[in-house]
Amino acid sequence: MKDEIIISGLKIFAWHGVYEEEKEKGQNFIVNAKLSLDTSLAGESDSLEDSVDYGKVCLFINDFMRINRFNLLEAVANQMARKIMVRFPMTQSVELEVMKPEAPIPLPFENVSVKITRSWHRTYIATGSNMGDSEDLIENAIANLDSDENCRVIRKSKMYRSKPYGGVEQDDFYNSVFCMDTLYSPIELLTRLQEEEKEANRERLVKWGPRTLDLDIIYYDDEIIEREHLRIPHVDMTNRDFVLLPLSEVAPYKRHPILGMTTIEMLGRLKESYVLTMKEEEE
Ligand code: AMP
Repeated sequence: MKDEIIISGLKIFAWHGVYEEEKEKGQNFIVNAKLSLDTSLAGESDSLEDSVDYGKVCLFINDFMRINRFNLLEAVANQMARKIMVRFPMTQSVELEVMKPEAPIPLPFENVSVKITRSWHRTYIATGSNMGDSEDLIENAIANLDSDENCRVIRKSKMYRSKPYGGVEQDDFYNSVFCMDTLYSPIELLTRLQEEEKEANRERLVKWGPRTLDLDIIYYDDEIIEREHLRIPHVDMTNRDFVLLPLSEVAPYKRHPILGMTTIEMLGRLKESYVLTMKEEEE
């Protein structure tokens, strides 16, 4: 289902532009916005509380455009789209077109505009720790992410214990998986997770060695990403029961976008062929 609230031709006087004159004198901008959300509840209840108040959205767009100053329409649109989704949490995605009909172009023209779509993305993150107060470090990182306005933690698995992986002599690991919606791009999310790892004072002395906190992106929607520093779905997830077992708790039927297998199917396959690392479960 894809329902939309549509605002068109909202006229706002503001001061965005690369040139000094634009920043000083200001000019008219016109905004079109499409908010995607599920309106079925409001359709039944006939109550504004169950929907997004388009009047408030218009005032919010007006304030955002008048309070902030950007050089580029791209920046206006990108940052405003994210803020709309944070301020109006029922909104699943936003299409924004910001027009500048009086842009300083020395030729006759009708209009210029930038049009973008931004949405919440569903991610699954695997956690691991075997140094310090592991459970607290993991819980603390998840809480920090949940209080970041660009993230919403949806579900968490229990905490599991596993034997170390990779042959280095060290303490047992604590592992869990959580599901989180985010407005960050995959690279921004990786950077944000690395901030949490740093805050937990992770020291990477030995590959496969002890670590205070490890946060891995398992899935980002159904995207397949192959970059030097980021591969999604996580390449080792199918060999790791300490990822698949907690993942089977939060997303048992979600299919791997390349293999087409559900979490439960991948776990079943792993059990047939590997020595498992899982120890007793922590309740
Ligand atoms: P490790 O902490 O040992 O799992 O490895 C961290 C490195 O793996 C980081 O520098 C990332 O750039 C890279 N990496 C590649 N794919 C991912 C992913 N899906 N999630 C987290 N880190 C990743």
